[in-house]
Amino acid sequence: MKPKIWLSSPHMGDKELCYVKDAFSSNWIAPLGPNVDGFEQDLQLFLGEDVHVAALSSGTAALHLALIILGVKAGDEVICQSMTFSASANPIVYQGATPVFVDSEAQTWNMSPEFLEVAIKERIALGKKPKAIVVVHLYGMPAQMDKIMSIARKYEIPVVEDAAEALGSEFKGQSLGTFGDIGIFSFNGNKIITTSGGGALVSANEEYIKKARFLSTQAQDPAPHYQHSQIGYNYRMSNICAGIGRGQMEVLKQRIWQRRSNYQFYRNAFAGIPYIKFLEEPNSAYYSNRWLTAITIEGASATREDVRMCLAGSNIDCRPLWKPLHLQPVFEQTPYYGNDCSERLFEKGLCLPSGSNLTEDELNRVVAQIYQAIEVPNAIGALI
Ligand SMILES: *Cc1c(COP(=O)(O)O)cnc(C)c1O
Repeated sequence: MKPKIWLSSPHMGDKELCYVKDAFSSNWIAPLGPNVDGFEQDLQLFLGEDVHVAALSSGTAALHLALIILGVKAGDEVICQSMTFSASANPIVYQGATPVFVDSEAQTWNMSPEFLEVAIKERIALGKKPKAIVVVHLYGMPAQMDKIMSIARKYEIPVVEDAAEALGSEFKGQSLGTFGDIGIFSFNGNKIITTSGGGALVSANEEYIKKARFLSTQAQDPAPHYQHSQIGYNYRMSNICAGIGRGQMEVLKQRIWQRRSNYQFYRNAFAGIPYIKFLEEPNSAYYSNRWLTAITIEGASATREDVRMCLAGSNIDCRPLWKPLHLQPVFEQTPYYGNDCSERLFEKGLCLPSGSNLTEDELNRVVAQIYQAIEVPNAIGALI
């Protein structure tokens, strides 16, 4: 068996271990400390002056706190992009609220502004104005943020930007995560940079960040004893993990460059194949970190699944696109607005190995295997 090629594996730089050692030698082995403060400052510096940051235990925790801070309560409705990872919507349910799913548009594969407005109008007509909108930047590609923000402002509904996959991406030169009332990032093991597990909540509103820090450390009121007037959470980032994060921030720009060159490599390799289309930046306003290179396969004798199986048979890790949440059994009863763009993308879409640590040999192996899967109809049977 050939060595495994991963979809997106952690890629450490030279400094992560130094920051972790600092934590050990100063005995800051806790969910607070100099690395947590330093990591927050690094993120703030990267995202822009007006941004405030709270480092948390995961992207999911950040989404949960974002909804709490925006006042989402039991019985409320929250609009959420359907085509995304389940973690975008789960915190809505943690709050006892109901997700209302909105389809994607074909250009960025993110929330359709058109169906967003249809959904808002109909929910208001039904007597339930949505409490928040969760928009996602899939695979690092910016959603149509100008249109989405103007609709949200028109109806005065706050926006949570799930930028878990999009650290370093920009729309019109502005960092993703800084458009919404609150933005969130993830530093899980497979993301563009990782703290092993971790997340961040960001906002221009400093009160929101203070609230996030308070809620994430068990909502302790100022008192010498343990005093609580609200329900708290244990969602703060560990000082060990933040040490990894500080090292990763030093190589973030390199990681973006490496992932963007993976995309360019695949683009060039499949330039002559009409069956393969890429998720492309629609124009110069869109700048993607290219967390994952995503393609659709259509018109070839091999289906997306044939190609995926063929790659798996050669020990190459590939994933279908996110299955739309309105098609997930757990969300069967939830309202959905759209015309099945996300469903069609799911059927033909595939994420290719995209790690910043892939070698040219590995990229060539992926390309050769896809050629084999697509051009030779019998390749599948022969390989398994
Ligand atoms: C990874 C991811 C999350 C969750 O982040 P965790 O840090 O794993 O909790 C949320 N939304 C999207 C779109 C993601 O890709």
